[in-house]
Amino acid sequence: MKLTWADGWVCPKGEGTHKVTSSDGKRQYLVEICLTEFDIHTCTCPAYMFSKTDPKTCKHIDKVLEEEVCGWVSLYSSRQPVKKNGILCCPQCSTELVSVKFAV
Ligand SMILES: [Zn+2]
Ligand SMILES: [Zn+2]
Repeated sequence: MKLTWADGWVCPKGEGTHKVTSSDGKRQYLVEICLTEFDIHTCTCPAYMFSKTDPKTCKHIDKVLEEEVCGWVSLYSSRQPVKKNGILCCPQCSTELVSVKFAV
């Protein structure tokens, strides 16, 4: 299969490590959000380790994605990036965009 690549932008808001407290409040898990490469998110909790879904997920990742990640991606949006002082920014949250290549 031959892949072609398209240029695009991703909003990196929320990318990085987030500390999430377990539902009983006793433990803290580290959720790693990766938006600009491969879209693979990880968590240090047991539910993630034993997750049978592909990609693996857990409620901590879901929570971070819902509450802290913007998630704007040019490929899936009809909204155009906005330009501020010559810098391309996210139309949803004004974070500086990261340019990526999409396999299409
Ligand atoms: Zn988790
Ligand atoms: Zn954004």
